[in-house]
Amino acid sequence: MRDVIGQRRFLEKLGEQAIRGDVAHAYELSGPRSIGKNTVALRLAQTLNCTAEPRIAGGCGACVSCMKIEKGIHPDVLMVTRLVDQIEQRGKREGERKADAKLISIEQIRAMQQDLALRPLEGRKRVVVIDDAADLSEHAEVALLKTLEEPPIHAVLLLVTPTPARLLETIRSRIQPLPFRAVPRDEIEAALAKRFGAGATRFAAVAAGRPGVAITLALDEAARNARAALEKEFYTLVASRLTERFAWAADLAESERDTQKRNEQIETRLVSWGELLRDAAVTAAGAADRATRPERATETRKLAEGVPTRELVDLAQSFERWRRDVIETTVSARMLLELVALKLPYRADVVAA
Ligand SMILES: [Zn+2]
Repeated sequence: MRDVIGQRRFLEKLGEQAIRGDVAHAYELSGPRSIGKNTVALRLAQTLNCTAEPRIAGGCGACVSCMKIEKGIHPDVLMVTRLVDQIEQRGKREGERKADAKLISIEQIRAMQQDLALRPLEGRKRVVVIDDAADLSEHAEVALLKTLEEPPIHAVLLLVTPTPARLLETIRSRIQPLPFRAVPRDEIEAALAKRFGAGATRFAAVAAGRPGVAITLALDEAARNARAALEKEFYTLVASRLTERFAWAADLAESERDTQKRNEQIETRLVSWGELLRDAAVTAAGAADRATRPERATETRKLAEGVPTRELVDLAQSFERWRRDVIETTVSARMLLELVALKLPYRADVVAA
């Protein structure tokens, strides 16, 4: 499919079906963040509504229809997301009054249903992308079920989520699953070289299977700086005593009122730091070339030499478990961060570079 990195397992067939218009009424696009779910949703909408001939999987990318979809202004392609970000722009007080804005509301789903009942205006299919589908309120989910039970003939619904287990089983049983898997490093490398030149291939390893991470790092200096800042935060914590660590846990737990945004901040740290710990573990085991962050070889070696290998492996596994806890459950952020503070190894000589 045009401009999609990875997921060849199901994309070839899906692309051919979309060209023929022979698609299911609803799909569940699930998998980790930055793995390509939104890109595939966009390309599916373009394949279904592209006006160029012969049609290609992913759409031509150049016709008026493809360009409108890319810009988010095609009348037959509707994005449904939670309203909280729009409301934040209008001022915090309004946001507080409307606590439901942190979820996708039943009013949004009803508006979508009215829209979906109309025939396509310019294209062949009306496509609705719901992102993140796990953010649907309880009432919104029940309302959506009606559409899934009796979908209009021209409708294709794409439910995007990193946490499909949070959707109602009655919804999941009516949609076709498209589970996205980590993309092999050589595939990401090849795509980066093609788009940005050979210098960009170094971001393939650090992406750990997520093409979106590699593309962001290749394009965006701010993203590279943010990533380095998170690494520095980790090494500073490792070189800190418990008092400073607990202060850090309290600060981060209270830093953001919006639970989802705060959890994303915590998740980002758990992913990044889990990789740093894993790098130390593989280095301790004599496989430093398997490290995903070669630019941190000095700090990684200090951790590998100063902390028992088994402890590093256990900790990397704990970080992965905590990451799932943060996105899939209602674990207390403060308690989880204090656990991180307690469990991190203490190494005063790991310099925060
Ligand atoms: Zn096109």
